[in-house]
Amino acid sequence: MDKKITIAIDGHSSTGKSTLAKQLARELGYVYVDTGAMYRAVTYFAMQHGLIDKDGFDKEGLIKLLPTVSLQFLFNPELGFAEMYLNEVNVETEIRSMEVSGFVSKVAEVSEVRAKLVEQQQHMGENKGIVMDGRDIGTVVFPKAELKIFMTASAEVRAHRRYDELTAKGQEVSYDEVLANVTERDYIDSHRTDSPLLKASDAIEIDNSNLSREEQFEKVVSLAKHTIQL
Ligand code: C5P
Repeated sequence: MDKKITIAIDGHSSTGKSTLAKQLARELGYVYVDTGAMYRAVTYFAMQHGLIDKDGFDKEGLIKLLPTVSLQFLFNPELGFAEMYLNEVNVETEIRSMEVSGFVSKVAEVSEVRAKLVEQQQHMGENKGIVMDGRDIGTVVFPKAELKIFMTASAEVRAHRRYDELTAKGQEVSYDEVLANVTERDYIDSHRTDSPLLKASDAIEIDNSNLSREEQFEKVVSLAKHTIQL
């Protein structure tokens, strides 16, 4: 039987990491974990508890309530992928809103939040055979991952893709708003003190500004198969 490896996919916002990681996991028969969904779910939790509003963010309040946050991925056979549950409630739709996108990078700066989520992520990947996407997977969560991919594309290309995705789901957003969000999140993610978004020195960079989904998928599958056979 082929050996199982750990595949870390990091990169900028809206580079299509999740779509690629999901497809790759399906192709290899691996587990897929979207760590962005976990940070989004904690953000949604904070919003539900009145810890985030237009006046600011009660960081200490969130840290105090963190032990009551339970996150779980449950596989939905109809959709063919796992959905995010926050304290036993499916929050897959709520966590993709622009409101959550607007605050998530602030919540992701909090070390206590990161420590809790990283521990859960490392536990999920204990048996390998996993594709995990995020911002710190190849640098912090699985620094020894056998295959690390770092994805990027121009901010405009990314904002267009995200805008199309959100409007297709019926969300009312403007392209400028999406572009501002993508750029702001990248800035905060890359400049935070704890686990900033960085390309690991042994990561393979893919700029997909001019690559089709198929081209990109073929490239990554061949990298993965090659690494599995090493
Ligand atoms: O991947 P996605 O865009 O859904 O992630 C939402 C946000 O969660 C990112 O902008 C980032 O602030 C945070 N995040 C993180 N570390 C991860 C995954 C996501 O800080 N591993």
